[in-house]
Amino acid sequence: MSESSPIGHGGRLTIDLSALRANWRILAKAAECPETAAVIKADAYGCGIARAAPALWREGCRTFFVAHLSEGLTARQALPDAAIYVLNGFPPGSAPAYRAAGLRPVLGSRDEVAEWAAANRAEGVTRPAALHVDTGMNRLGLSVPEGLALAGDPIVAEAGIDLLMSHLVSAEVEHDPLTDRQAAAFAQVRDAYPGIRASLANSSGDFLPSCRADLARPGYALYGGNPRPGRDNPMHPVVRLDAGILQVREVPAGETAGYNARWTAHGPRRLATLSIGYADGYPRSSTGRGEAVVGGVRCPFAGNVSMDLIILDVTEAPQDALRRGAPATLIGDGLDLDTVGRNAGTIGYEILTNLGRRYERVYRD
Ligand SMILES: *Cc1c(COP(=O)(O)O)cnc(C)c1O
Repeated sequence: MSESSPIGHGGRLTIDLSALRANWRILAKAAECPETAAVIKADAYGCGIARAAPALWREGCRTFFVAHLSEGLTARQALPDAAIYVLNGFPPGSAPAYRAAGLRPVLGSRDEVAEWAAANRAEGVTRPAALHVDTGMNRLGLSVPEGLALAGDPIVAEAGIDLLMSHLVSAEVEHDPLTDRQAAAFAQVRDAYPGIRASLANSSGDFLPSCRADLARPGYALYGGNPRPGRDNPMHPVVRLDAGILQVREVPAGETAGYNARWTAHGPRRLATLSIGYADGYPRSSTGRGEAVVGGVRCPFAGNVSMDLIILDVTEAPQDALRRGAPATLIGDGLDLDTVGRNAGTIGYEILTNLGRRYERVYRD
């Protein structure tokens, strides 16, 4: 637990880069793939690509995935020599920008393959790209029949395809038959593209033997999320969020707290007001379910999460932890990402990627 609360900011986000690196090692071991990449889209899931990416590179990671060109450009600055794939492909006409930065688009349609191949021909240089085959998400990529039909077409070589990939629909659900169907469909496509590396597993798929291929692509678990919900989390926590106590007050039974009086004291209660709110990226949907740890005790939110403040029912917390300026922990001390996500009616992924810009950010390594 940290003893101080941030000064000048509502909350302090502490990001543990050594935990991030250890998580990459754990995932690389679990995946049993020849290579393990890192997905660093959405600013490395909110952890900061500029710091997270070089830490992973130092640990031995050589291949990275982002979602957009802009993210690829940021990643390139942090990773001059890495292979960087851009998952969302490329918008028409943007191939020159990708090529200038040495970014590899993940191509998801014949149109995209043709446009990238044309850019390769025009430059007289075959720059690599990945091919995405959709095995069940129905979201992005060629259908399995399209992928099979394209195999053997000279345009595949012209487009510099060096990686074949697909994305799992529900790898975190144990024994979901859909995962096996996807793995079987992917194996069929893979057979049609001999000599091209293949990648199927995300964080949860990393732990499934049927999803092994040449390259694992974990994201969430790198940042501490549980890749196997319902089981013990094998990952180290990377993100910690603390906010300072601004005031403590005693309220008698019948008093309400917060906007629209959504909480009522059913007996005499002690309330602490924290300097953090939804404008910091802490979800307002945690109203009624959110928790924070004060002095080692989990305390429930009282009333609506407001823009810059959260009211906490600290009646059960030790008195000496309730000084003005003392910290409350919103992520950490046993409150893991998955719990925080559940309390907000969402998933830990969304908690991470919404971590705001307003926090004081501290990196540990
Ligand atoms: C985000 C993403 C990943 C990483 O998934 P996690 O569940 O965060 O491990 C892998 N592949 C694709 C295509 C993705 O979009």
